[in-house]
Amino acid sequence: MLKSTEAMNANNSVQFNFDNSLARSLEGFFVPCQPEPSVAPKLIQFNHALAEELGLDPVALDSDAGLAIFAGNVAPEGAEPVALAYAGHQFGGFAPQLGDGRALLLGEVIDSQQRRRDIQLKGSGITPFSRGGDGKAGLGPVLREYLVAEAMHALGVPTTRALAAVTTGEEIYRQLPLPGAILTRVAASHIRVGTFQYGAARGDVEKVRALADYVMARHYPETANAENPYLAFFEAVANAQASLIARWMQIGFIHGVMNTDNMTISGETIDYGPCAFMERYAPGTVFSSIDRQGRYAYANQPSILSWNLTRLAETLIRFVDPEQDRAIALLTETIERVQPLYEKYWLAGMRSKLGLSTEDSQDFDLINDLLWVMEDGQADFTLVFRRLSQALRGDSAPVQELFEQSGAFDVWARRWRKRLKQEGVAEETVAQSMDRVNPIYIPRNHKVEEALDAAIDQEDLTPFTKLLAVVSQPFDEVAGNEAYAVPAPATDMPYRTFCGT
Ligand code: AMP
Ligand code: MG
Repeated sequence: MLKSTEAMNANNSVQFNFDNSLARSLEGFFVPCQPEPSVAPKLIQFNHALAEELGLDPVALDSDAGLAIFAGNVAPEGAEPVALAYAGHQFGGFAPQLGDGRALLLGEVIDSQQRRRDIQLKGSGITPFSRGGDGKAGLGPVLREYLVAEAMHALGVPTTRALAAVTTGEEIYRQLPLPGAILTRVAASHIRVGTFQYGAARGDVEKVRALADYVMARHYPETANAENPYLAFFEAVANAQASLIARWMQIGFIHGVMNTDNMTISGETIDYGPCAFMERYAPGTVFSSIDRQGRYAYANQPSILSWNLTRLAETLIRFVDPEQDRAIALLTETIERVQPLYEKYWLAGMRSKLGLSTEDSQDFDLINDLLWVMEDGQADFTLVFRRLSQALRGDSAPVQELFEQSGAFDVWARRWRKRLKQEGVAEETVAQSMDRVNPIYIPRNHKVEEALDAAIDQEDLTPFTKLLAVVSQPFDEVAGNEAYAVPAPATDMPYRTFCGT
């Protein structure tokens, strides 16, 4: 008796204050759908800080009542679960209907800073878009997404967030049986380039317009007052995505599946499937086992940005100008500005990685020459930048050691020091500013695998929790955490990632 009262109270105190604008306004872009119940769910990770940010009660949620929600067994009051429809170019080939095949949007909450945020269950079972899939997710991919999304957030990169991870008590079958799991994901919205393509592929002009109007109001309200609102909207998306890809490049992040259905309109990183961080600097690095041509290799990410934006532009032509030629000319002009815009963001970020606060026309060469030296010397991307600040503090050996031979690096370092001298800022001040932008801890691939293996094989979440804590403070060096800062021991086997489907 007492128990059931307690459970009821817990349930009552779990309030989400949903305001589901998408379900109200975007008929045709979603299908209502319920999650499949989990048989024996367990809450294995819960993000207290994020719950607070969302205006939710973390104590009430970190409970059986929260578990029931995150496991898809109880719909919180006000939720209107829907599977979103979208299309997408996958590795260059167009699929007119993809959609949430293993995810459901529960609804939108207004967070403590008055921002509208989507709450989504990923891995909650079959939807009308499952196309023969089981709608489920495995524990490995769920934990990987949790970890990398939270690491990206801590690194200051726009990203979807992870609110909770549960195991469902069910086995799912991929090549091997795996523990089933559900991730509760939070995003500014889950609308993608592929959402526009879905409407456009169906020839439904007014629906695409309604989608554009909705997204403009939700993410880029300032564009409504522009002389050409739809063009301004496209520019705003291009700007957000260019800035995002520049951030990826500055931390050695390789997304791995930059299909148009995995590119958000909000400019947040989404869908951490086969993603991984580059260790030694090699522009051609590809980790994903399915990316056989290297389409989404590290160095290709900026050009794929433009390719994907061009697909978005194609869906907006008729709204930009009634005269098709003029609309195409206007959109083309914007697309042509994407690479210079990206480079501007990239250069600004790289300057701060080198401790530079002013601009010099030689900076582009200075940065690229370092990258050349790093590639040639097989040096670890993350650690080179981090240890440059140590060199400034008088200890050059740690950074020199990262290169097979440090001669070329030493020559470069003299140029860099000379350039820094021009700015006349005290070296310790520069070193401190560099340490605020150059992480010491990223989710190292072997550490991620170690943590996932322990969680899956031994049901031991200790390595995961520890790694999550380390990558959540990526800029603060902590004694005792040395093993998290260094690359994987050399092996002959290249690191490979999988989509997790
Ligand atoms: P992703 O690789 O996560 O970007 O997914 C590509 C498409 O495949 C999306 O439409 C997903 O919803 C769908 N999908 C991936 N895994 C599954 C699954 N296990 N069951 C059903 N649909 C899936
Ligand atoms: Mg996807």
